Amino acid sequence: MEKFTGIPASLGFISGKAFLYLENNFPEILRADISPEQVPDEIRRLDNAIRQATAELTIIHERALQETSKEQADIFNAHLLMLNDPIFRDQLLDRFRENQVNIEWVVWDVAREMTQKMMSSPDPLFRERAVDINDVSKRVLHELLSIKPGSLAELQEDVIIVANDLLPSEILSMDRKRVRGIVMDSGSRTSHTAILARAFNIPAVVGLALGTRVIKDGDTLIVNGSTGEVFVNPGKKELSEFKKATMVYHRRQEEFLSLRDLPAETRDGARITMNANIEIPEETTQVLQYGAEGIGLYRSEFIFLTPGQAAGEEQQYHSYTQVLKAMKKRPVTIRTVDIGGDKVLPDFQSPDEKNPLLGWRAIRFSLALPELFKTQLRAILRSSVNGTVKIMFPLISGIEEIEQALVFLDEARDECRAAGQTFAEHIDVGTMIEVPSAAITADILAEKSDFFSVGTNDLIQYSLAVDRGNERVNYLATPAHPAILRFLKHTIDAAHQRGIKAAMCGEMAGDLKSTALLLGLGLDEFSMAPQSIPRVKQIIRSVNMADCRKLADEALRGISWKQNTRLMDEWMAQYCPVELRVV
Ligand code: PEP
Ligand code: MG
Repeated sequence: MEKFTGIPASLGFISGKAFLYLENNFPEILRADISPEQVPDEIRRLDNAIRQATAELTIIHERALQETSKEQADIFNAHLLMLNDPIFRDQLLDRFRENQVNIEWVVWDVAREMTQKMMSSPDPLFRERAVDINDVSKRVLHELLSIKPGSLAELQEDVIIVANDLLPSEILSMDRKRVRGIVMDSGSRTSHTAILARAFNIPAVVGLALGTRVIKDGDTLIVNGSTGEVFVNPGKKELSEFKKATMVYHRRQEEFLSLRDLPAETRDGARITMNANIEIPEETTQVLQYGAEGIGLYRSEFIFLTPGQAAGEEQQYHSYTQVLKAMKKRPVTIRTVDIGGDKVLPDFQSPDEKNPLLGWRAIRFSLALPELFKTQLRAILRSSVNGTVKIMFPLISGIEEIEQALVFLDEARDECRAAGQTFAEHIDVGTMIEVPSAAITADILAEKSDFFSVGTNDLIQYSLAVDRGNERVNYLATPAHPAILRFLKHTIDAAHQRGIKAAMCGEMAGDLKSTALLLGLGLDEFSMAPQSIPRVKQIIRSVNMADCRKLADEALRGISWKQNTRLMDEWMAQYCPVELRVV
């Protein structure tokens, strides 16, 4: 039995069989020296792997010839030629003899070097060839490592996916009935893959840097999405503890559900709004089950990112209407698409964008493609007659972007009128505060906003220069940093001076350690993953505003995130019951 700890990303305990998924990115292979006697064996292993990969590719090629076009089949023919090219084999063997190391490392190293060289070529033909080399080498590696590459959409049994990284689109397309849990080498709590795992209620641990290297296909795993622990091939003792913990977890979940109809009100009577974040319409069932008063963030881009879904005006109208009807007049805040960053839409965006997180993302993307943007705005407007819609613009960095977006919204209204389509008379239009420039100019942006919603995932990423998907720097991504607290204070105060509400839909809103602090800073509305609502609500119901203000004042005087984290931990220890502390 081995135990590893990563970042807890989606609540729940689960045990099951590991399914090593290395389709997208194959991880670095460990390098191991070999003795001179092992050399012939390693060469035999390589030749066997090439033979098996060839046999597999030949079948795929023939099937492609019968079932698709010759053009498609030619791709596999090219792979076959590459795989059996004596130069490729010689190159591998030269590197092998130079280094005297395990053959899988050699394949990995040569493939990595060749693809990197080709990817940096200005010639698109070379770049395409890099993809082929990647593909062919992966096939050989799969044979060497005895990994069955499989599509996540066609899983044969219940599994726990172990991957280096998963794209949001892969989670959307996987056979979720079969996926009991997710373990990922990369990522953080706020990466979009983690957010989707929570949306689908799949227990997940991310940032387990060695995951795909130490876990083998078929290993038995226990995944604790609440603590970040992963047990590999657990013994009897761990399995029996797991059973007990699962029972406690389910009992507690039921207790939490009993809080559903109680208000989120502090002991001294301050009433807070508790909303939920959703990614797909089906989540509204959970939203209501956990007692959300509305939807504070509907990440509409997932309509576009769901494979095989045509995200035209009708599909969008249908999705928004489905959510609005399910929410029965409770407010639904639809965020216009936040495409880009780690949510690339291949039809529109180049995967080669150098700095996607600082690039063509969110409102920048929408403003550059007015037809696409107005299609979305018309779909939202048309759906607005079915409930209470609010609109929110993501990644605003300055007032010009709000002004421009509002012009398009007016045009969309005109287009609906011209087509005889009705829509709600008044719709609140809010601004997401998730870029430092927006937070610091919140007083200016408030003039053009009906509400603010702070996206702390991005605000932290951009303020502290920490990639939210990178597990190595995850420790720095903390809301306790004095810079973040000052931004929050400035944003909330600016909203209140202008008489509008300050909401938060970033992960900080669902972080129990931050609840009292956010109350003390004056936050009006919290929006979070549905499952987090009862825990946060219970904390809100157990505190006094005066204490929370004191805590916020003290934190605002803090000079480092470590000092503030200590302060928040002390607060948790004093006020928060132990059983609640699991996030
Ligand atoms: C955020 O950045 O905090 C946010 C809520 O938006 P997303 O996580 O979708 O980027
Ligand atoms: Mg964001």
